[in-house]
Amino acid sequence: MSTANLSRTEARRRSASVQVRDHRVELDLSAATDPGRGTFRTTTTVRFAATEPETFLDFLGPRVHAVTVNGEPREVDVDGGRIHLAGLAAENEVRVEAEAAYSRTGEGLHRFVDPADGATYLYTQQEPADARRVFAGFDQPDLKARFTFVVTAPAGWHVLSNQPVTTTELGPHGTARWAFAATPPLSTYLTAVVAGPYHRVTGEWRAAGDAAGAAPLVVPLGVWCRASLAEHLDAEEVLTITRQGLDFFREHVAFPYPWGTYDQVFVPEYNLGAMENPGCVTLTESYVFRSAATRAQHQARATTVLHEMAHMWFGDLVTPRWWDDLWLKESFADYLGTHAVVAATQFTDAWAAFASRRKAWAYAQDQLPTTHPVVADIPDVEAAKQNFDGVTYAKGAAVLKQLVAYVGEKAFFAGAQRYFARHAYGSTTLPDLLTELEGASGRDLGEWTRLWLHTSGPATLRARATLDEDDRLVRLEVHQDSRDPVTGAEVLRPHRLAVGLYHLTRGGLARSERVELDLTGRSVDVPGVAGLPAPDLVLVNDGDLTYGKVRLDDRSVATVREHLSALGDPLARAVVWSALWNSARDAVLPAADYLEAVLRHGPGESDTAVLQGLTANARTAVEHYLPPADRTAGRARWFDGAWHRLLEAPAGSDAQLVWARAVTGSGAAVPEAAGRLRALLEAEVPDLPMGPELRWATWQALAALGVASVGELDAELARDRTGEGVTQHLRALTSRPDPAVRARAWEALIHRTDLTNDQVDATIAGFTAPPRPRQGYAEAYFAVLRRLWQERSIEIASRLVRGLYPGQQDAAAGRRTDGHPVVRRTEEWLAGNEDAPAALRRLVIEQGDHLRRSLTAQGAAQA
Ligand SMILES: [Zn+2]
Repeated sequence: MSTANLSRTEARRRSASVQVRDHRVELDLSAATDPGRGTFRTTTTVRFAATEPETFLDFLGPRVHAVTVNGEPREVDVDGGRIHLAGLAAENEVRVEAEAAYSRTGEGLHRFVDPADGATYLYTQQEPADARRVFAGFDQPDLKARFTFVVTAPAGWHVLSNQPVTTTELGPHGTARWAFAATPPLSTYLTAVVAGPYHRVTGEWRAAGDAAGAAPLVVPLGVWCRASLAEHLDAEEVLTITRQGLDFFREHVAFPYPWGTYDQVFVPEYNLGAMENPGCVTLTESYVFRSAATRAQHQARATTVLHEMAHMWFGDLVTPRWWDDLWLKESFADYLGTHAVVAATQFTDAWAAFASRRKAWAYAQDQLPTTHPVVADIPDVEAAKQNFDGVTYAKGAAVLKQLVAYVGEKAFFAGAQRYFARHAYGSTTLPDLLTELEGASGRDLGEWTRLWLHTSGPATLRARATLDEDDRLVRLEVHQDSRDPVTGAEVLRPHRLAVGLYHLTRGGLARSERVELDLTGRSVDVPGVAGLPAPDLVLVNDGDLTYGKVRLDDRSVATVREHLSALGDPLARAVVWSALWNSARDAVLPAADYLEAVLRHGPGESDTAVLQGLTANARTAVEHYLPPADRTAGRARWFDGAWHRLLEAPAGSDAQLVWARAVTGSGAAVPEAAGRLRALLEAEVPDLPMGPELRWATWQALAALGVASVGELDAELARDRTGEGVTQHLRALTSRPDPAVRARAWEALIHRTDLTNDQVDATIAGFTAPPRPRQGYAEAYFAVLRRLWQERSIEIASRLVRGLYPGQQDAAAGRRTDGHPVVRRTEEWLAGNEDAPAALRRLVIEQGDHLRRSLTAQGAAQA
């Protein structure tokens, strides 16, 4: 195994023998604007105590110039990602001078040159183990230490890090040197440096002292983005959410904000939504809205802002000891992001999006053969990188929501407060948290933990009604059917949940009863309902307290097909939508029926976050779950339906935007769509704001249909020569169905190592845009997998392995899923590559499972 893939065993051994005092990290970024310079000088001075004569520092970069141990120059001993140190004393000062590379993949110190104005921007992204791409250090989460950053950069720039600047000195040749205050004890992956001519908006948050003894606090706030995006940055809204969040966490966490300042920087070509660097959060630029954005997009941004803020305590102040307990920070941040948005901001309805969209991610991930318990087994950092997934985030958050329903919100936060008081600036594992939650709630959580955090898979929840001849309830039971897909064992988890009984009335589909109960075994009787008129809809998990796939009974399905829009409660609708989608994915509800439900009741869905998810699901249903014989008609039906809903949507509404996206997203598969797509570009839909986002999506659909010329695409780029414009133009060019274009795209993805993360995504998206485009590339894909994994960074390799998998396939009538040639080829590859890295195998297994699911749905519909 590569020495770059640090294992848990090695990390444990190292932390047993080393106690890190502090790091001083000096970065020379003064030549960053010179595109010919691919590297920068990085010098680390690390002080630590050692109980063994040898250890190693982590570093991934082109060159190590010099290593000095306790003032004595040493021969440089580098092996893969490690610098070996020998002859150590009890207390040591090690200095490493090295050359690190500017990143183009979003890992380490990423460099971006803005096509709009030629300005250069830098930022770091280091989780889980990419700090070693920026500086030499002990790159594992439990070796926390103080960091002092000193950065040399062009004098006109802004330079940010986790702590405030202490001094700035002008240097030679138009450079300056920024020194930052030493951080409180931090893990390496949480350190950050951001540098460039960023645009800044400032503010502050003030908290008065209180009777409980909390001191008054002032936190300077900064919101940053590239200068060329300044006109689109609605910083005031971000600042408002930030202040509301800081108020919320002050009250609930009761540990004063520990990081001094709070900067939030929107950065280009970002690999993720955001990163919780203490005091210096980085966020994706897609949250700076250049085009019209729905309220749902504002809500998503607010949720991300508060997710990262939750990390200032959950993850930053107290850090998981190793990546097995990644959930200890991600599940909490994910839960609290939504909880705080609902409790403290204007977005009081955010639980609906959580129920229908965030949890869909969890249910999908949790049914894959690669699923894992929330508390995972993570043997090395490659496995860690793969585990930022739907189980760690969304299932973990859903399980915490269930825990709050179980122990109560008061006890939950009281436990959290005790946890922070005890473990501030330290690192922990699950039992550390449980002890405090048990202490605060007075409940033994051992069994709850075993059943919820150490098992896998969602339960399926259903209600069974027994009626008398007058159509009245004799009995209503709730069942759980739950098998751990990893162990095969039955797991009956305790569910605190609500059951809603709904009747059709003149005013709509109204809830007449809501009963909250505990389901602990296979089934439980819903108390107090005997004699009530038979409900038209029985909704298990009303209010979405628990985690489990809900199956509606036949009568309820019939009701929601006709009347879902008449269900007034948005959260109840979200739970119904979730049930329908899970049924479609499981081949219980035909894809065509799901499609009709979205076309019929989508226009009545007032929550645009939910609606956006429905339209994405509908497209998946058309492309993957409809039987091949029905697909052409299904595509036309979906495109035409979305077009009419676009025309019917109120002018200037969010719904109009969502349907317009559905139109552009599905147009590439419908040859007759070209005329209407052109009409969009001619602004023929009244009051539809055709910003760059919709314009590019339209051009990409036209390009995929083979009816957009290169000249037209270039003309669009001339209108929008921005970072996003250049990427979208690449995607549009690559979307053309010409076999030579496809071959060039394939060659670029497989052979070119200079493509950035965003260019890789755009090229994959273009390559896969025309319907069923990848025939002919399946064998080439399997042939190149191992080489890609070896030669590319894990971020880029993962995108290629996922994105190029030949997963759009047709089921042959009457043929078993197992017999499909791509399914067979996947199995063969797995059998022949048992020695391949586990992270690569995991991705291939997952893609294979998605394909099986598609083929099963297609087969069920044509059976
Ligand atoms: Zn997070």
